[in-house]
Amino acid sequence: MMKPLIHVLALGGTIATRPDPTGAMQMGLGADDLTAAVPKLGNVADIRAETVSRVGSHSLAFDDIHALAGKIRASVADGVVVTQGTDTLEETSFLLDLLLDLGKPVIVTGAMRNPALASPDGPGNLLGAVRVAANPWMRAHARELGVVVVMLDAVFAAADVLKTHPTRIDAFAAPQTGPLAVLVEGRVVPMSLPVRDAVESARNLMGHHFGPAQPVALLWSSLDESDALMRAIAEGQGHLGYRGVVMGAMGGGHLPERTVASARALATRLPTVVSPRAGGGPLLRNTYGGGSSEIALRKAGLIWGGRLHPLKARVLLETCLRAGLARDTIAQVFDAFG
Ligand code: GLU
Repeated sequence: MMKPLIHVLALGGTIATRPDPTGAMQMGLGADDLTAAVPKLGNVADIRAETVSRVGSHSLAFDDIHALAGKIRASVADGVVVTQGTDTLEETSFLLDLLLDLGKPVIVTGAMRNPALASPDGPGNLLGAVRVAANPWMRAHARELGVVVVMLDAVFAAADVLKTHPTRIDAFAAPQTGPLAVLVEGRVVPMSLPVRDAVESARNLMGHHFGPAQPVALLWSSLDESDALMRAIAEGQGHLGYRGVVMGAMGGGHLPERTVASARALATRLPTVVSPRAGGGPLLRNTYGGGSSEIALRKAGLIWGGRLHPLKARVLLETCLRAGLARDTIAQVFDAFG
């Protein structure tokens, strides 16, 4: 049987580091180095390796991921594996998921332990990602699965995966949904298909044409927090350059009472999305009364972010704004997420 052609695109990150003369790890390895270090890849697929950049993912920009999506769209391979740093992988994978609908597997992976440490996980993750990209079930269901993340022999939906620890190799998880599949003895064992309606409806409403970057501020509600940052954005010149705001709100969608007037004022000026700082789970809509609760905030025009983690909500809002969507359509996009 013909082996599938898998295109490995390398961006940098821990997986691509090597020690400099001081012993500190620096970005250095390219796609050829990464794939050459895992000879077993050749048993699974024909590999095309391409180095896109050698940048830590903490320094990537939305524009970089739009350019990467263009490269993936242009690839003639049967599947694509992106290697990158893990710090923003939960955001970049979701952005790729919003931008791509190719009907072939697109996998994002990285490493938690660098090549100078005992038991680095980069080679295993790369092999796992290529196995997943080459797998017949994954290929048959690529559209239903969307972009997925493969880390430590588990496959996660991009909308759900979170980085939950700064160093452990089991840092990646999808706390709301669990994995879509796992790898065992090199086999991909399917477990579930994600519910894709909200992503698909977002994609339909956004279309295919995206303009320039639309900076989105992320404000995190916390005990005794003031409204100073909300006011600075609402009243600052050109809203300090921001085009939208995501608020990591408390509980089911609550903000400290002392910030509510400023939050309402902000929402009249910029699309302002309320998202659960608890990390996920649908927000409430109709339970609590009072000015700082979900019923009043929704009436005041704050956009309800549904079940998306604030980091994912920020990616979605930036993408909606780039697509030129008006506030009401943005609210419709988020509404589909619960
Ligand atoms: N901060 C770097 C990055 O995200 C290294 C972290 C990692 O890859 O795990 O690229």
